[in-house]
Amino acid sequence: MQMPDPDQSVLARKEAIVAGLGRILPADAVISDPAETRAYECDALTAYRCPPLAAVLPSTTEEVAAVLRFCHEQGVKVVPRGSGTSLAGGALPTADSIILGVARMNAVLETDYANRVIRVQTGRTNLSVTGAVEADDFFYAPDPSSQLACAIAGNIGMNSGGAHCLKYGVTTNNLLGVKLVTMQGEIVELGGAHLDAAGYDLLGVLCGSEGQLGVVTEATLRILRKPEGARPIMMGFDANEVAGACVSDIIKAGVLPVAIEFMDRPCIRACEAFAKAGYPDVEALLIVEVEGSEAEIEEQLAKIKEIALRHNPTELRESRSAEQSAAIWKGRKSAFGAMGQINDYMCLDGTIPVSQLPHVLRRIGEMSKEFGLDVANVFHAGDGNMHPLILFDANKPGDLERCEAFGAEILKLCVEVGGCLTGEHGVGVEKRDLMLAQYTPEDIEAQLRVKDVFDPKWLLNPAKVFPLETTETRRAA
Ligand SMILES: Cc1cc2nc3c(=O)[nH]c(=O)nc-3n(C[C@H](O)[C@H](O)[C@H](O)COP(=O)(O)OP(=O)(O)OC[C@H]3O[C@@H](n4cnc5c(N)ncnc54)[C@H](O)[C@@H]3O)c2cc1C
Repeated sequence: MQMPDPDQSVLARKEAIVAGLGRILPADAVISDPAETRAYECDALTAYRCPPLAAVLPSTTEEVAAVLRFCHEQGVKVVPRGSGTSLAGGALPTADSIILGVARMNAVLETDYANRVIRVQTGRTNLSVTGAVEADDFFYAPDPSSQLACAIAGNIGMNSGGAHCLKYGVTTNNLLGVKLVTMQGEIVELGGAHLDAAGYDLLGVLCGSEGQLGVVTEATLRILRKPEGARPIMMGFDANEVAGACVSDIIKAGVLPVAIEFMDRPCIRACEAFAKAGYPDVEALLIVEVEGSEAEIEEQLAKIKEIALRHNPTELRESRSAEQSAAIWKGRKSAFGAMGQINDYMCLDGTIPVSQLPHVLRRIGEMSKEFGLDVANVFHAGDGNMHPLILFDANKPGDLERCEAFGAEILKLCVEVGGCLTGEHGVGVEKRDLMLAQYTPEDIEAQLRVKDVFDPKWLLNPAKVFPLETTETRRAA
């Protein structure tokens, strides 16, 4: 993976730039000591690292605006950062950029149950949004597996999803408004506390724009009444393809579970060893959760079981208690951590039409043999969002490159079957150079022109999302 050469004139001015930031922010909000900036040298895509010039941690929207205005004047690049859990290298700094972290901006500003909205500062973690309203029986629906750590800022940056997004949609379906600071330091409000806004849908453009268009400091989010109850069921199959076909049939039947999660044998074993969830030792496991009143749960589960039985499951086990349900989800939610304990891996993220699951799973199995690298599959099967984890040995020369090449082939396959290069993790640096597998040069040019409007000097989140050669002239200008 290539990054542009750092701007030497910026590196030479480091002291003056840090001093300028120090005039805007309190002393403890500017980090420039190389020992401390190392904490910001990567996000959760740890294969790529580079300490930034400095990191700043403002506490208010006005401070963010002042920092951006200063950086705009000085020609300093800025990488917005929430919690740094991006798996696509979306918050990876360059040596000539500053990290602007919103972690200190984590307050709940307003809770409005009558209109079912909550307004928060974007440094607030995803899970703590639900934490703020659950005593009153409400919740915030998008639930990335990283929800304990990841911030609403990054959720908006990546248009994040999660296990329950099959029913409730991803971030963009639950985001009503934002406060955004442009690179020039202007504070703008998009959307509001209502369902639709007048004019162009700029909120739709912003959500998923990966820190390319501005820094989001506040968000108005839709909150929902908690369902009466929820119950997961586990189904084991003796082949990945059969489990894939079962998912496709559930969706085709028009049942709408709140989640359908898929795990294959390597992943099931790692999760079971880690979380002791009581998972059966099968080739492929589906966790299907339904919710509603007891009668609704029973009715949906009956239909799902009927469909599953047509695929000869080796296991069909319904949760019988809150403890069993929690254990089932604990296993699934620990998947990435559990795999990390046993192997280096690269987590991919692509989306496909659900009907293509059996074909894509079979091809991944074949490619795994061709590339000589094992794959563990864990993903949100209901919405076709795949996360193949390619296992490799970071200490073995050539393994990372082989893993990257294998990953690229899987993502191209997703596009080939009518899907998309990105699911919920964004493009970042990871998929930047694959964008031309999905888009024509004209498509890319149209996207670049949007960036030109919001960030004419191309200072926000450098070298992400677009292939470097397509942005060369703009970056040089
Ligand atoms: C174990 C694990 C499990 C995960 N599971 C899921 C999952 O189920 N679903 C899912 O969608 N993702 C998942 N992720 C990926 C990641 O957690 C999400 O992409 C998350 O939304 C990133 O949030 P963050 O606050 O950490 O953002 P960061 O990593 O800090 O940033 C992500 C992107 O948003 C931009 N950004 C950050 N703050 C701002 C801001 N204030 N204004 C504008 N842009 C900003 C950044 O520049 C970057 O491009 C997982 C990650 C891990 C490590």
